[in-house]
Amino acid sequence: MQHIVNKTIASLAPLISVGEKRLSILIFHRVLASYDFMRPGEITAKEFDDKMALIARYFNPLSLNDAVTKLKQGTLPQRAICVTFDDGYRDNADIAYPILKKHNIPATFYVATGFLDGGRMWNDTVIEAIRIYPKQSINLTEIDLGDYELNSDSQREVAAQKIIKQIKHLPQHERTEKVDAIASMVSKLPNDLMMDSTQIQTLSQQGVHIGGHTVTHPILSALTSEQAEQEISAGKAALENIIQQPVTEFAYPNGKPGQDYLPEHVDIVKKLGFKTAVSTQWGVSNRRSDLYQLNRFTPWDKTDGKFLSRLVLNFKII
Ligand SMILES: [Zn+2]
Repeated sequence: MQHIVNKTIASLAPLISVGEKRLSILIFHRVLASYDFMRPGEITAKEFDDKMALIARYFNPLSLNDAVTKLKQGTLPQRAICVTFDDGYRDNADIAYPILKKHNIPATFYVATGFLDGGRMWNDTVIEAIRIYPKQSINLTEIDLGDYELNSDSQREVAAQKIIKQIKHLPQHERTEKVDAIASMVSKLPNDLMMDSTQIQTLSQQGVHIGGHTVTHPILSALTSEQAEQEISAGKAALENIIQQPVTEFAYPNGKPGQDYLPEHVDIVKKLGFKTAVSTQWGVSNRRSDLYQLNRFTPWDKTDGKFLSRLVLNFKII
């Protein structure tokens, strides 16, 4: 393995040691204790540990604040990289943080405050309900979501993803109605998927940056300006109340520019006193990048060689 890693670095190093300094910002959501058939795409603790070891060894991990300052000053080191987490999952505190600490990698956790202390995001309600639904098939035709065989782990996983896909872009009230209907078909859903306030407080005291991510994780472009501002500012205020410090970093929910958020939301984020904001637009940032729309990307490759290649090649994208 080491041989492959060294070869990858050696072959790709020329690409990143010349030209303008660029910043790569990674997005993660969850780090699972072990493989979960309902979430086959999510990284496990072991995989995350391996990837962070590679980052610590071959890249220069910085906090986002630090990186942005250096980017503007023109003092960014080669292969600068930031690690960010979205949404506020409990495993960020229980599993990801100890690994980040072990490798001395700073991070920003963007937290949607409406799910703290026992809440659950709607997509997780669907996943967890389909996981535990007691029958071997589920009929959701009454709420226009079709019917599904649930005879195997993989059928359950596929069914949950198909349902999520159909309701993802519905207006919020319609989505809530359908998710509530699905939730009512099972008896007990987990209420410990997200962090609690004390965990946020402790992480902040330990040096993790806590960033805003709204209250209920809406698609901002689907809201009125007033609603969007309320979501962003209430989330900021709730976090500041928990950590007793200014919250100056923000991540747009879903994060596709022109689709999930619009220029008016960038203005709101500026007006509310945030210093940086991140999107999910793929790519890296350079000196001319808009600090309120910094690009990010998801390092989804499972093998270390591919992961490294992708990280390095990401520096090539403007
Ligand atoms: Zn999110």
